[in-house]
Amino acid sequence: MSTSLEMKNIQKFYGPLQVVKDFNLQIQPGEFVTFLGPSGSGKTTALKMIAGFETPTSGDIFLGSRSIVDLPAYERGIGMVFQNYALFPHMTVAENVAFPLTVRRATRAEIESSVARALQLVKMEQYSGRYPNQLSGGQQQRIALARAIVFNPSILLMDEPLGALDRNLREHMKIEIMRIQKELNMTVVFVTHDQDEALTMSDRIAVINEGRLVQVDDSKTLYGRPRNRFVASFVGESNMIPCRVDLIENGAGKVTVAGNTPGAAQLSGQTDGDNGWLFVRPENVEIDLRSAVVDLPNALDGIVENALFLGEMTRYLVRCGDETITVKRQNRGQTHFAGGTPVTVSWKAEDCTVLN
Ligand code: ADP
Ligand code: MG
Repeated sequence: MSTSLEMKNIQKFYGPLQVVKDFNLQIQPGEFVTFLGPSGSGKTTALKMIAGFETPTSGDIFLGSRSIVDLPAYERGIGMVFQNYALFPHMTVAENVAFPLTVRRATRAEIESSVARALQLVKMEQYSGRYPNQLSGGQQQRIALARAIVFNPSILLMDEPLGALDRNLREHMKIEIMRIQKELNMTVVFVTHDQDEALTMSDRIAVINEGRLVQVDDSKTLYGRPRNRFVASFVGESNMIPCRVDLIENGAGKVTVAGNTPGAAQLSGQTDGDNGWLFVRPENVEIDLRSAVVDLPNALDGIVENALFLGEMTRYLVRCGDETITVKRQNRGQTHFAGGTPVTVSWKAEDCTVLN
C-alpha cells in the first residue's frame, strides 16, 4: 500500500530565518527518495513538515490527492525512524513495536500478528521479550524500523537512521532497508548527509543546499551530470578547473582551460564569453608520459606531485601550473607514474561539463 507525496511551494521560516525555500517535489508511490545535504541545510525541517511535527509557513503537502498540512501527525498514517532510535526503555521489544497499534486501538489478535510480521521482516523475532538496553545499536535500529512499519504506513520517513551505527553495520543496514522497502513496495523519504548512502539506496536524490532543492535526479545523472559546482563537489570527488567558453557549436563548447589550453566541453546553459568551471571526475582523466601525447584538446602538462597506491587503484595528484588535477586509475597492469614524473593529463569532451 504505497502512496504518492507532493510538496508544493513549501516555505519555512523560523522568525526571520528561512530554512526551507520553495520546495516543489513529487514523489511516486513506491519510490525511494533521499534528501541529501550538509548539516543545517534544512533536511530535518523538511521531513518534520511531512510528518506533521512542524507546520510550513506557506505551501501545501499532499499524500495521494489529499492535503495533509492541517492534519495532526498521528492522523497522517506516516511511519518515522530517527537517528537515535527513540525506543521506549521501559517497554519490551514486542511492546515497542506494538505501540503504534495500541494507540490506534487495534485488536489483540491484529497486534500479535502484525508485530510478529514486522519483527520477522527485520529478522528480530527471537528478541521480542528483551528490553532496548539489552540490544546492540543495530538491533535497536531494526526495532525502531519495525515499529515504524508495523501499522502499514502509507509512507516511511527516515532521518539519518544509520548515523549512529559503525561502518560494517551501516553497510548491512543499507541493504536491509532496501530489501524491506522493495518487499513492501513502500514510499520512502530518507535523509542523510552521506553521499554514499544516497547514491546506493535511492531511486532519486534531492540535493539540498541552504534550504533549497538544487537538483533532483537519479544517482547516475547526479554523479555524471551535476547541475552546478555545489552538487559536483558534494557528490563524489571532482576536478574543477577555471575555464572560458569561446564558441558554442551544436550545444557543446570550445573552451579555454586554465588560462591558455584549448578544450571542448559540454555546457550547462552558458553562452559565448562566459567564465565557468570545467568539471571532470578523477576516473575520467587519463594520465600519460608527457612525450607520448601530441596536441590533444583538454590536455594539460604537469608533474606528478603525489601517487597514492590504494590497492585496486592509484590516486595521482598532478600539478599543472596553478591547478592540481586529481586522477584515479585502475591498477590493471598500467604504467605506474612515480612522484616527479612529467606527464600529460587529458579527458574527453563528453566527460567534462562547464559549470557555473
Ligand atoms: P539539517 O537536518 O539539514 O541538518 P535542520 O532542518 O535541522 O537541518 O535545520 C535547518 C536550519 O534551521 C538550521 O539553521 C537550524 O539551526 C534551524 N532550525 C532548526 N530547527 C529550528 C527551530 N526549532 N528554531 C529555530 N531554528 C531552527
Ligand atoms: Mg537533520
